[in-house]
Amino acid sequence: MADVLKNVFLSLSNNRTLNRAAQNYGLQLGAKLVVAGTNIEETMETIRQLNSRGIEATVDHLGEFVYEREEAIAAKMKILDVLDAIHESGVKAHISIKPSQVGLDIDYDFCLENVLEIAEKAAQYGIFINLDQENYERLHATFAILETIEQRYPNTAGTVIQAYLHEAPQLLEKYSGYRLRIVKGAYKESEQVALTSKAAIDEQFVALLEAHLLNGKFTSVATHDHEIIQHIQKFVAMHNIPADKFEFQMLYGFRTDMQQQLAKDGYQFTTYVPFGADWYGYFMRRLAERPQNIQLVTKQVFTKKTNTVIGVAAAAFILGRLTKK
Ligand SMILES: Cc1cc2nc3c(=O)[nH]c(=O)nc-3n(C[C@H](O)[C@H](O)[C@H](O)COP(=O)(O)OP(=O)(O)OC[C@H]3O[C@@H](n4cnc5c(N)ncnc54)[C@H](O)[C@@H]3O)c2cc1C
Repeated sequence: MADVLKNVFLSLSNNRTLNRAAQNYGLQLGAKLVVAGTNIEETMETIRQLNSRGIEATVDHLGEFVYEREEAIAAKMKILDVLDAIHESGVKAHISIKPSQVGLDIDYDFCLENVLEIAEKAAQYGIFINLDQENYERLHATFAILETIEQRYPNTAGTVIQAYLHEAPQLLEKYSGYRLRIVKGAYKESEQVALTSKAAIDEQFVALLEAHLLNGKFTSVATHDHEIIQHIQKFVAMHNIPADKFEFQMLYGFRTDMQQQLAKDGYQFTTYVPFGADWYGYFMRRLAERPQNIQLVTKQVFTKKTNTVIGVAAAAFILGRLTKK
């Protein structure tokens, strides 16, 4: 059942029509609990609150399904505004960007130009950029963009290694000189490119984390998995990994108590703070990861009566898939 729901939500996350519709409805279906807001001001306020509790932020201006140059340019402008807002307000934050948002699916050179403009401003302000990893089709282009940023603006950018990829160990070795966020991986991939068993993914995830921690470059341990977090806490203590060489990261709205506790215990901690009108794909991937999060949806849909086209379409889609067999 969990696998069926996972696939349903991953398929929904790729539905461009629902994505467009969702943008007209503001934050719905419980998305408010995991998306900081729709504008920069609200987001800066959220970050101030996190900072006051010893937590830093990585800000993601949400945006997917970008196939028009104007949309990519608008996304780039918004990200430049976020950099200005971080710089001017002095909050402790960096940014996370998805290359597809600034034109990767339109044209590689156009995307690179946009990313470099962002990197130039980030380097000027001393703000770090994380290039998020998306689905496998965009993987190698994202690494190529990273290498170009590194040549022009050294130490300004890093990226993500998705542990579910068969080639993750080779990628980790090749990019061992970079600051890396290591995750399990969130997209629907074929067996040809990715591991499918949870046990195998967890095992590869831990091995990659340990290797990068030992390598001495900065590691972001990005997971809500308490067992893996406990394992890493023991590992860093045993290997005397300096506290400024790693951090834990979690998503905004998830395991908030644990986020707070880790920061209180003296670990460097960064919360991934997404904001913007384009919340749909991000939210569907979160539902795919943890079907219990469906409670977020049902509470919103049935107690607050926020029935939207998305709610109806999602329910119809799920029912259709579940009754197919
Ligand atoms: C900061 C950050 C950035 C990310 N960036 C990317 C990216 O760029 N590209 C990408 O592909 N993926 C990214 N991801 C998503 C990632 O790949 C995983 O899909 C996602 O984190 C779910 O896996 P997990 O490690 O958190 O634990 P899971 O495998 O989902 O959960 C493991 C166990 O942890 C416990 N648990 C998990 N969540 C909860 C909860 N909310 N409440 C209580 N218990 C819980 C449960 O016991 C569960 O069985 C990112 C994740 C984070 C945290």
